[in-house]
Amino acid sequence: MRKAKIVSLFIALASASLANAAEQHWSYEGKAGPEHWSELSRDFHLCHEGKSQSPINIKDPVDGHLQTLDLTYHTSAEKVINNGHTIQVTVDEDDDFILDKEKFTLRQYHFHAPAENQINGQTFPLEAHFVHSKEDGELAVVAVMFEVGKENLALVPLINAMPKKENQQITIHRQVDLRALFPQDLHYYRFSGSLTTPPCSEGVRWLVMKQPVTLSQSQLDAFKKALKTSNNRPLQPLNGRLIVE
Ligand SMILES: [Zn+2]
Repeated sequence: MRKAKIVSLFIALASASLANAAEQHWSYEGKAGPEHWSELSRDFHLCHEGKSQSPINIKDPVDGHLQTLDLTYHTSAEKVINNGHTIQVTVDEDDDFILDKEKFTLRQYHFHAPAENQINGQTFPLEAHFVHSKEDGELAVVAVMFEVGKENLALVPLINAMPKKENQQITIHRQVDLRALFPQDLHYYRFSGSLTTPPCSEGVRWLVMKQPVTLSQSQLDAFKKALKTSNNRPLQPLNGRLIVE
């Protein structure tokens, strides 16, 4: 009985410290900004010490004859949340994506304005990250760049539901066509990187679509207004990593 109590106390303590780490305040500017992420928590040490961090400037890719992305999303968006760091859409249905003959499942997608990765030194005004995980927790992120142009109809239900306040979650009732958020041409750059937010975990498989899609200036303004500040981590050194196309 007593032993069980002690064990459960340990579990409670362990999960409390995990929760603290997860809730550790960080931001995109000032004392909790990207230059200081590793000082905020021991769990964030990779943000400073990591050698394959994201985002990067994508240039001089090596020809790896990569096939086009095998995209079979059918998921509808479930909930959109403004978590104070990004506008994030969670998905409930399982949507699989096969990469390296392994099954990854789409968990959520979110937006950065301006974009985090650069392509040949060019920064796009918005970048979407589609975050997938495998059963063992390994991650694959597919990124799509947006440039200002024609209105993006696939974004309309998202923008309409976008919470203006932090930590507000809104259920989307209209279906979002995920394929329509991707470019016609499904060729991409591929490299190894990290999460672009604390804890900056590495070993993330990054696929960045080469062709951007468009959104209108007023759609971009809606994202910026909801985000309040820029939410892009500065570029990180390549450290000899290869970029394949
Ligand atoms: Zn992201």
